[in-house]
Amino acid sequence: MTEALAPGATIGILGGGQLGRMLSVAASRLGYRCHVYEPGAAPAGDVAARVTTAPYEDEAAIRAFARAVDVVTYEFENVPAAALDLIESIVPIRPGRRALAVSQDRIDEKDFLSGLGLATAPYARIDSAADLDAAMAGHDRAILKTRRLGYDGKGQLRLATGDDMAAAWARVNAPSVLEGFVDFSAEISVIVARGTDGAVAAFDPGLNLHEGGILRRTTVPCGLPARLVQDAVLIASRIVSALDYVGVMGVELFVTPAGLVVNEIAPRVHNSGHWTQAGCAVDQFEQHVRAVAGLPLGDGRRHADVVMENLIGADTDRLPDLLRAPDTQVHLYGKSEVKPGRKMGHVNRIVRTG
Ligand code: AMP
Repeated sequence: MTEALAPGATIGILGGGQLGRMLSVAASRLGYRCHVYEPGAAPAGDVAARVTTAPYEDEAAIRAFARAVDVVTYEFENVPAAALDLIESIVPIRPGRRALAVSQDRIDEKDFLSGLGLATAPYARIDSAADLDAAMAGHDRAILKTRRLGYDGKGQLRLATGDDMAAAWARVNAPSVLEGFVDFSAEISVIVARGTDGAVAAFDPGLNLHEGGILRRTTVPCGLPARLVQDAVLIASRIVSALDYVGVMGVELFVTPAGLVVNEIAPRVHNSGHWTQAGCAVDQFEQHVRAVAGLPLGDGRRHADVVMENLIGADTDRLPDLLRAPDTQVHLYGKSEVKPGRKMGHVNRIVRTG
């Protein structure tokens, strides 16, 4: 095991959104300081000890940031490779580059997952309208996704037999993957952590409901049979071990009659893990900080049933009621401008049983 960061050490965080903000709060509880690097507006900047506002292409700023911190982590997996190369020549990056490379490209991700023997949606590499035509022949329904830089359903096009493939390709016009449509009965995710000592701890799988490609709600427990819950945790554990991973990862899975199918992995804390703030003694943010700081992982056990709901756009109009609701934890990200589809905060409601 690598030596643990001493109290007062500084954790660098690439990306200054709400995930970076909640990581910074967790890090400060463990006696660490955070230095956030973010090209744009940074909700994390309000709670971090230091913020650098500069583009990822600014070599001098990246170098100065790397020299000012003891370890670098990220809340955002699409950091350009050149910035990561420079940082890595100065200070360790956790989770490591392999996990980032795999999750930045949907084809590499699926190749990696199927290489482990895990089920994924059937997929084909698409670089032209002709590729799309040929691949679509095998499906009634499919989803065309750009290989890189997609999130919250962005960069995706749903297709059915008979659709105009040339027009679909013209809309995307970037290296892509065509995924066969998975007929799932539910979507779940496992938030799993691996420490520098190789120890693995998983939180209970959550049941996720998406609306318009954005996570709306996560419910824990997920209500699936114990066998599937166990499978989900085993799959997530295999993925982090195979990557020699350090940190928290979100693993999204489809539940199908044939078993679990891996949708995607996110090498960072994950929106569907926010329930852990109300459901566990050690939440996903503290767990990630523990891992990247070389501390022992918390056990991740759940002590309550929780429903997490995102506050998206004008959902913040409900705040007066939510603030009065019993057993409800309100989290706001400090974003002043409300925009449709923008994640403004979330609530964790503890569900009392019996
Ligand atoms: P993604 O960005 O890949 O997580 O996709 C966003 C959402 O689209 C997922 O949470 C699913 O609800 C849906 N989706 C993505 N891929 C598939 C697929 N191959 N089959 C069916 N639904 C999908």
